[in-house]
Amino acid sequence: MSVLDAIGDTPLIRLTRVTAGIAAEVHLKAEFLNPGGSVKDRAALAMVEAAEESGELRPGGVIVEGTSGNTGIGLAMIAAQRGYRALVVVPDKSSAEKVATLRAYGAEVVITVGGVPREDPRHVSQVAARLAAETPGGWLAGQYDNPANPGAHRATTGPEIWRQTGRRVTHFVAGVGTGGTISGTGAFLRSAGPVTIVGADPENSVYGGGDGSPYYVESIGHYVHPATAEDVWPESYHPHVVDRIERVGDRESIEMTRRLAREEGVLVGASTGTAVVAALRVARELGPDGLVVVLAPDSGRAYLSKYFDDGWLRRNGFPAPVARGSLAAASP
Ligand code: PMP
Repeated sequence: MSVLDAIGDTPLIRLTRVTAGIAAEVHLKAEFLNPGGSVKDRAALAMVEAAEESGELRPGGVIVEGTSGNTGIGLAMIAAQRGYRALVVVPDKSSAEKVATLRAYGAEVVITVGGVPREDPRHVSQVAARLAAETPGGWLAGQYDNPANPGAHRATTGPEIWRQTGRRVTHFVAGVGTGGTISGTGAFLRSAGPVTIVGADPENSVYGGGDGSPYYVESIGHYVHPATAEDVWPESYHPHVVDRIERVGDRESIEMTRRLAREEGVLVGASTGTAVVAALRVARELGPDGLVVVLAPDSGRAYLSKYFDDGWLRRNGFPAPVARGSLAAASP
């Protein structure tokens, strides 16, 4: 068995404390247990295998992607195992832990300025496209419009959830970044049975009708740069698959992320907090026959210096935490 064979088949973990007073079952799909540490291992592997199949990626080739995090880590792991070079372009706001993880897998990391409009030649996606074109053997993974991204979830995540719940799942909840997870998993589950698909979105993100102003939770939602007012949805997001979108604020997401660690013993990133807040809203409306599966994309280990750090919270205008991981009542 190779490390890549350990991708997928992640367990479902039932939540028992944050669900107090709720009759329906709520289970976390524990994607942080993938070997590269996140749900993006699935999409990364599917994209590489499709490119090998089509001949776009050849032996000795170079995998290139512009990403602030988990997709780059998944690609770097696969590149190491399969003998490719990996070239990952990240914005300068990326956490030191993520850059160090990429380098640990042997990836070459190119750091560019973050927060510039998409048409700026320094934008992550532009730098990645240019490097892929200029590098002999270069192949751009392109998770935002690569059909293998949602395809991975249609082929694996969806069927796993259907099987693991004994076909009883009634609701699936996930955050929307590229949209690959919710579109692929949602498409499979809707074809399998009467399953409601719920997107969890940061309050300001445009997926749920927000104005696109910035927010803190990383890797989900869609932020519109004020200079361009651009809000082009990625091709990996298929809105017709999504029945409902729940909008969740930063503060509620971060508070739930901290509660999951302290009350459930599950250390996850803030996009899981966002999704769990949405899942509990949905679950509260259901009786004992309701079975909600909520996807947990990554571990809290990558964010110890952010959401789990009391000083970071204070510096960023969130109220000081009180007992059991809750944030104090004062408004930020
Ligand atoms: N949460 C985290 C931590 C992620 O890295 C991602 C991937 N960008 C997502 C959520 C969203 O997943 P997707 O891109 O499949 O919509």
